[in-house]
Amino acid sequence: MITTGYTQKDWQQALATALNDPVDLLTMLELDQLTEVVQAAERISQLFPLRVPLSFVKKMRKRCLNDPLLRQVLPLQAEATRAVGFVKDPLKEREFSPFKGILHKYRGRVLWMIAGTCAIHCRYCFRRHYLYSDHIFTRSKWQSGLNYLRQNPDVDEVIFSGGDPLLIKDTILGELIEELTHLKQIKRIRIHTRLPIVLPERITDNFLQLCQQTRFQIVLVVHCNHAQELDQHVAKILSALRAARVILLNQTVLLKGVNDHLSDLVELSKQLFAMHVIPYYIHQLDPVDGSKHFEVTELRRKRLMRGLLASLPGYMVPKFVQEIPGGASKEWLTV
Ligand code: SF4
Repeated sequence: MITTGYTQKDWQQALATALNDPVDLLTMLELDQLTEVVQAAERISQLFPLRVPLSFVKKMRKRCLNDPLLRQVLPLQAEATRAVGFVKDPLKEREFSPFKGILHKYRGRVLWMIAGTCAIHCRYCFRRHYLYSDHIFTRSKWQSGLNYLRQNPDVDEVIFSGGDPLLIKDTILGELIEELTHLKQIKRIRIHTRLPIVLPERITDNFLQLCQQTRFQIVLVVHCNHAQELDQHVAKILSALRAARVILLNQTVLLKGVNDHLSDLVELSKQLFAMHVIPYYIHQLDPVDGSKHFEVTELRRKRLMRGLLASLPGYMVPKFVQEIPGGASKEWLTV
């Protein structure tokens, strides 16, 4: 039997101890003497709160303000800078929503936003200004969602997104998957989640059982930006998922100050692959208001792409992509 030994109680306890106060985070990292940083973090977290699980904090280096994991979660004064072209809804998602909670942007795939919260708040998130309370695909919408699929028989893949869709309990997830089982047109379920990386306890034995027993191919797209996020605990969880016949892909966001050096990206691809995860996409930063300081120039991005091609076997080189609102697919960026 494939097991991680985790239950719902384990991950809910881990989630309950996530840090929400910048002072606690900076104190743990012995950075609390940096008064300006502390004050800015407190101010900016009023706009988009800090949230970070303890297991993620433990992977950060102490006394290092430039730690690549800390940079992803620490509210900085730079977020208050307005920048031309950086807007609240950079992907214009509301225009591709047949009804609230569903996005239908690309042929053959429909995205259901089944959760409105995350275990971690990534400062560069393109949905950081999203009004989840208005746009969640709650149980009361399931039948409308299923009808929408029946009316669109070319859709053969449902994507669970959010927020983080794995913050839904296994029982509810199981019921939703069961509803989809009756639709013969659906072949795959894709789950976009950061939890195997930032809250590994979420991969419960019940979830593994769900993945093993369903008739669907389950594709789990994790989100890891730096090799420092991967440790033995994460490796164990990913092995269990693979043993449960889950297809594992990774998406990364290219972020200045986090992973914009060739050695960062090479190491990330190698470690992911060693843990059975295919490096799938590197996303160009979506221009969301408050994230300009994470932007990597086109020149640097092209150098990184050339460097990756020259450093890794092709199967470890992720595709560089950009979302273009209204495009028929993501745009593949070239060197
Ligand atoms: S986990 Fe994903 S959806 Fe949640 S804040 Fe991070 S990038 Fe955004």
